[in-house]
Amino acid sequence: MHMDLIIRNGTVIDGTKAPRYEADVAVQDGRIVAIGDLSGHTARQTIDAGGRIVAPGFIDSHTHDDTAVLSNPGMDFKVSQGVTTVVAGNCGISAAPLRRDMDLPMPLALVETTPEARFTTFAAYLAAMRASPSSVNVAAMVGHSTLRAVVMPDLDRPANAQEIAQMREMVEEAMQAGAIGLSTGTFYPPAAAATTEEIIEVGRPLTARKALYVTHMRDEGARVMESLEETFRIGRELDVPVVVSHHKAQGQPNFGRSKETLPLIRETMKHQCVSLDCYPYTAGSTMIRTDRGMLDGRVLIASSEPHPGMAGRDLDDIAKEWGVAKDEAARRLQPGSAIYFMMDESDVQRILAFDETMIGSDGIPVGEKPHPRLWGTFPRVLGHYSRDVGLFPLETAVWKMTGLTARNFGLAGRGTLKVGQAADIVVFDAATVRDAASYTHPTLPAEGIHAVIVNGALTWSDGVHQGARNGQVLTRSVPN
Ligand SMILES: [Zn+2]
Repeated sequence: MHMDLIIRNGTVIDGTKAPRYEADVAVQDGRIVAIGDLSGHTARQTIDAGGRIVAPGFIDSHTHDDTAVLSNPGMDFKVSQGVTTVVAGNCGISAAPLRRDMDLPMPLALVETTPEARFTTFAAYLAAMRASPSSVNVAAMVGHSTLRAVVMPDLDRPANAQEIAQMREMVEEAMQAGAIGLSTGTFYPPAAAATTEEIIEVGRPLTARKALYVTHMRDEGARVMESLEETFRIGRELDVPVVVSHHKAQGQPNFGRSKETLPLIRETMKHQCVSLDCYPYTAGSTMIRTDRGMLDGRVLIASSEPHPGMAGRDLDDIAKEWGVAKDEAARRLQPGSAIYFMMDESDVQRILAFDETMIGSDGIPVGEKPHPRLWGTFPRVLGHYSRDVGLFPLETAVWKMTGLTARNFGLAGRGTLKVGQAADIVVFDAATVRDAASYTHPTLPAEGIHAVIVNGALTWSDGVHQGARNGQVLTRSVPN
């Protein structure tokens, strides 16, 4: 038989945690059609994967690529890592629905958009991605903070009954259009005043569809246990699966507390559907904040609207240069984004190694000096944490970024390398794969990623984007 593409002589890691095995993989019409000894078959295109791993394309469970897929459709920072699918709309922030006549408060403005390009419905947003595909698949959520900003004149209070009803209608519209869930970010000012009850009432349309409730929790530091309980309660009241985003124990006084949070998560998993993701770094990144605790450790400025030249510099040095206190310097740099060194390596490793933890980058595709997770997350887990540190076998590392994620997000036909699945495939070198992106040089592509195929199209090959824009909008399917 004559195929579109055959990947020959590779070692398959199939995304289920099963042990690797040698096989050829054939692709036809965007799907995997045969796996095994295919020496009798020919193909229009052949990739030699001798000595390399052939795995399902990686799914980035936590991104802020909502508008990047439209404004930067090549998505080099993701496909260069082997990522073939991104989950967008996290932390309460989404690209839709928005009004054209509104100002976007931080951090909503991190999902860069111009008023003319704003989508007033979720359906319009998904239609735009379908009309103008990027190089990766997108599964999108609607953000609660975004809804608040659209509906409420004043964000410093809980929503009233009428505002809740309006937000609920918008969630319903998003669900009908194909959103896979609702995200919240009560950690951030636009939603900090929202009550648990507000979120439950806004989230009602999730229940009928068993859509996801995904959250950047209210507090990942001193009150992390209470925040987990709040998250679980929302999941129970709505009877939907919850995802705890970028799980961490934030701030020095809380170092080591993953020893408390992970057992609570595991115990809760016995009674309700809970999952979590994590990025493989001890620094986080978000909008420039001045509240207590955020500025205690080292802070690197990633972007600043009033002072773009300060990107990449230490807040301490900027404050000294200006002759002001650190919090005053931070205020002057707003709005912008920063990198905060606020986690302990042992917590990061414990959370990554927890068997139910998915890998998500939380990359913010803004500015010239982003957190290196934007370009380095997946190869860092494969190279540094799996191979060099030995935190888990390569089969487990791959599962945490493919099969586990597809299962938790309900992305049918993705995440495993099996006949009949969509041909999202990455070919990489287990011995050399590594993240090159660092805090000083954060936009360097990964090493050791040989080929990336999205819905059957060769999209990245040996360090060069091949021009394919074959990504699809993915919706959630729930097993009956
Ligand atoms: Zn977040």
